[in-house]
Amino acid sequence: ATFSEIINSEIIRQHVPMLAQALLTIGGPQVRNTGTMGGNICNGAVSADSACAALVYEFDLLVLGLEGERTESIHGFHTGPGRTILQQGDLLKSFVIRPENYTGFWASYIKYAMRGAMDIATIGCGAAIKMNGDEVETFKLAFTVAAPTPIRCPTAEKIMVGSTISEQSLERLADAVEADVKPRTSWRASKEFRLHIIRTLAKKVTRQAVTNQGGND
Ligand SMILES: Cc1cc2nc3c(=O)[nH]c(=O)nc-3n(C[C@H](O)[C@H](O)[C@H](O)COP(=O)(O)OP(=O)(O)OC[C@H]3O[C@@H](n4cnc5c(N)ncnc54)[C@H](O)[C@@H]3O)c2cc1C
Repeated sequence: ATFSEIINSEIIRQHVPMLAQALLTIGGPQVRNTGTMGGNICNGAVSADSACAALVYEFDLLVLGLEGERTESIHGFHTGPGRTILQQGDLLKSFVIRPENYTGFWASYIKYAMRGAMDIATIGCGAAIKMNGDEVETFKLAFTVAAPTPIRCPTAEKIMVGSTISEQSLERLADAVEADVKPRTSWRASKEFRLHIIRTLAKKVTRQAVTNQGGND
């Protein structure tokens, strides 16, 4: 499906709104009307704006290969910049999104780019959070451009479980996330600047997910 078809889907907006929120940051209308999410994931781009949603909502990928159909997890799908596990002859047929991976979660995405539109991410960050009263029950955090592939952040995710959302816990989150990322210097931004953005976005996206209760900003 094209980005626009996914963005305009009632089912997507109702169940995985962060995916629509992320896809709205891609390119401009022409790109969103013609580019597909399949292409965005299969081209292996480390900056793919659909990748954080795929990672926190735990997408599976139904792949048709020369030997028949198989299911691949999004975890481990990207193997390096511009590289994926797909082999010659493989065709991604569809994404599988399971209710247990979105039901009860509030999620949000923030793309940091040098300008507001038609620019790829300097850093992209998505979070999904499930609360039990005031405490975090499950926390999922993903980044693009923070490592050679889009990543989840196991250290940061673990540190939030059982805590409330406060300035102190968000500061602990920002410290913990440094263990999960490996940003690099490129013409777009230095490693140090990327790390600053990573710390800032980890806190901001978490606050945003909770404040908006998963609704789009
Ligand atoms: C002006 C411009 C702005 C852009 N801005 C952004 C942006 O802000 N954020 C962002 O994330 N991206 C951005 N992009 C990148 C673009 O949106 C993605 O590359 C796009 O999603 C690719 O989708 P496509 O359907 O055109 O794939 P294609 O370009 O046709 O394919 C891309 C690669 O994936 C493979 N592929 C495609 N579909 C499948 C499939 N079903 N199974 C197996 N392999 C497949 C192709 O063989 C190819 O190697 C931008 C691109 C342009 C031109």
